[in-house]
Formats: sequence, C-alpha cells, structure tokens
Amino acid sequence: MKFNEHIRVIADFPKEGISYKDITTLLKNGDVYRAAVNEMVEKIKPWKPEVIVGPEARGFLLGAPVAYALGIGFVPVRKPGKLPARTISETYALEYGSDTLEVHADAIHSGERIVVVDDLLATGGTMAATANLMRKIGADVVGMGFLIELTFLKGREKLVDYPVFSLVEYE
Ligand code: 5GP
Repeated sequence: MKFNEHIRVIADFPKEGISYKDITTLLKNGDVYRAAVNEMVEKIKPWKPEVIVGPEARGFLLGAPVAYALGIGFVPVRKPGKLPARTISETYALEYGSDTLEVHADAIHSGERIVVVDDLLATGGTMAATANLMRKIGADVVGMGFLIELTFLKGREKLVDYPVFSLVEYE
C-alpha cells in the first residue's frame, strides 16, 4: 500500500517554512488505517514486546491499535499534569525553550520489553526523550516504530542505540 498517497502535505503549518504531514486523511480511510497498523504490527512482532508505549497525542492513534492487535498493553506518555498518579518525568531541549514528558511511575516493570510507537520521526527529540524516560523507569526499549520519517532531519542519529523502522520516508 502506498501510504504516502494518503498523507496530506500542508505548506507553512504550523509556521512558515514547515511542510506539515497531515495524517488525518490516512486515519479517515479505514482500509489504509488498518493496513498501516497491520504493517507496523508485523514489523514489531519479532521484537516480542510486552508493552507498547505511545507519546501524546498522535502516538496514541497508532500505538493503541498496535497494542490491541498484539494482545498486549498500552502505556501513554503525556505532557505534564495530565496523569493522575505518581509520575516520572524527562525534560528535553527544544529549538526555543524546553518540553517535558511524563509517565506513571508504576506503568512499567523493571526489565519489561517495550516498543515505542509514534506517527512521525523528525529531529528525534521527542523519541530520544521518551527513550530516556523509559530507561529511567527501568524499561528495556527493544525498538521504535514510526508511520513517517523525515530523513533529512536525521532523527535516527539520536536513536542509534535502538532498532528503528518507518513506513514512509520524506527526503
Ligand atoms: P521530533 O521530536 O522528532 O522533532 O518531532 C516529532 C514529533 O512532532 C512527533 O511526536 C510528531 O507527532 C510531531 N510532528 C512534527 N512534525 C510533524 C508533522 O509534519 N506531522 C505530524 N503529524 N506530526 C509532526
């Protein structure tokens, strides 16, 4: 399936110079959405994860159906202040300022095999921070999967310690 034909590219969103990859057009098409999830499932299965982890918010849209298909659990990584129980957090630098991610402290057992799923790999900042958060909590990060990868931003260079796949590349 040619997933790129179902991704809408919007120029200058959210600011000038950014070519935004809009996945809502892919998600809206049931056959394509299912095919994308199934392809991610087939790539993730050999890693034998015990839990799928997805960063807010688009990581939920792919990570949760992948977890469901594999019959394993899903753990959300969220922006600060959203999770009700005790959390562990990781703060990371952005181009301007910083951002923080949180996960419930008891969400993952030490040594549990996890795979992180997100919609898009750009600079790799979000995923590197998620991986650090997972290491803090004691998880064994056995892989990372993305629907889309913007290869020219070289996000993989921040993720060299992990097996990584993406279904669609933009160069
Ligand atoms: P990074 O941290 O790798 O620079 O950025 C990746 C994060 O930003 C992902 O969580 C992703 O959801 C979001 N993101 C950045 N650019 C885009 C884009 O063009 N389209 C979509 N759908 N998400 C984006």
